[in-house]
This record gives sequence, structure tokens and C-alpha cells, in this order.
Amino acid sequence: MDFDTPLAEAWVRAIAAAVEEEAPRLTELDSAIGDGDHGSNLLRGFTAVLAALDGLDPAGPGAVLTRTGTTLISKVGGAAGPLYGKAFRALGAALPGPSGPAAFGEALAAGLRAVRDLGRAEPGDKTIVDAWTPALAAYRAAVAAGADLPRAAGAAADAAGQGALDTVPLQARKGRASYLGPRSIGHQDPGAASTALVFRALAEVTAAQA
Ligand code: ADP
Ligand code: MG
Repeated sequence: MDFDTPLAEAWVRAIAAAVEEEAPRLTELDSAIGDGDHGSNLLRGFTAVLAALDGLDPAGPGAVLTRTGTTLISKVGGAAGPLYGKAFRALGAALPGPSGPAAFGEALAAGLRAVRDLGRAEPGDKTIVDAWTPALAAYRAAVAAGADLPRAAGAAADAAGQGALDTVPLQARKGRASYLGPRSIGHQDPGAASTALVFRALAEVTAAQA
């Protein structure tokens, strides 16, 4: 299975559906160590993304993801809008046409690089990076072992979910939560939790098309 234009659209729509369902939980997580807007930020962003996709006649999967990123940058304030926006734009740039599992893994790597270039977070800083990094590693390991896209995406989703849970004992060193210092310990990072949703959505749509 290639990552093609219909799959890109299905992925983004699945993320939007997951964000809609999980927005209250994301906001609750952000209320504990931030300002309580992560769910509503992403909900506003992905609602605008769905509207933008409706009028789009994409030339390839990358066009869908680039439009997603551009829309997130323009509609979502806060840290997460620009970070996810740049990530999706990097994914889009890396996927001009239908792409196999290895090429899609390189796109995931480009997305993580974009997050890190903008946010300067290291693994362990209690951010999006702490879910995306293990997801990418698991994805690559699965592809190296011969997995197809659905299997590799499933491995990535499991690793992202675990990565998000593993942020609980960490002290935040980037973003708003870092202002709390040691009081950020004991809570799951909202951005890592939303990154887990992004990878879970990928696993679901690739499994559905397998
Ligand atoms: P804000 O913090 O501006 O209110 P959000 O609440 O939408 O924005 O997003 C918060 C999330 O953004 C955090 O939980 C964290 O995962 C992520 N984040 C913040 N700063 C960074 C950074 N420098 N690098 C990566 N992710 C970050
Ligand atoms: Mg916030």
C-alpha cells in the first residue's frame, strides 16, 4: 500500500474526528500544566482544515498535508499551531506523490525535524517530541523488519501512546508548562497526547484500507 492522496485526506479527516472527540481531555491535560486551551486550539484548527480540504483539488498527498499545515499555522494560536503547522508542511513537502512505507518514514522524520527546528525541544523536555520520537523509531524499525504501511503505522501509534504516557514523570523544560518547574511533574503533556492521536489516526486509516 502506498500513502496516496485519498489516504492523506482520510488521515487528516481522522485526526479532525479524533481531535473533536478528545478535545475535552486535551484541554483538561492543558489545564493541569498549561492554560487549558490545547483542545480548543486544535479543534479550531482542524475545523478550519476540514473546510479548506473541501475546496481543494490536491495534486498529490503532499498537497493535502501542506494545506493542512498552512491552515493550522494561520488559524491556531499558541505553541501547538505553528509546531503542528510546520510539521504538516514538512510532511507535505516530502510526499509530492504516492509514497511507499520507507518514503513515508522519511516524511515522518522531516515532520519531527520541523518540530525540533522551530521548538528547540530535546527528547525528555515533555513536549510533542516525546511522542513523535518513539513513534518514528518504531515506524522505522517495523519497516526495516518488512512491515507494510498499516503494520508500521500501528507500531508507531503504540509507541506514540506510550511516549505520551511516559511524559507523566518528566519535568517540562519547554513551553508554558516549563514555567511550573517541578510542579509540571505528574501530569501527561497535552501536546504529546495529541501527537499520539495523530499517529493513532494514521494506524486506523491505513488499517481500514488494507
Ligand atoms: P500554548 O502552550 O501556547 O497554550 P497549546 O496549549 O496549544 O499552546 O500547546 C501546548 C503543547 O505544545 C505542550 O503540551 C507541548 O507538547 C507543546 N510544546 C510547547 N512548546 C514546545 C516546543 N518548544 N517544542 C515542542 N512542543 C512544544
Ligand atoms: Mg495551552
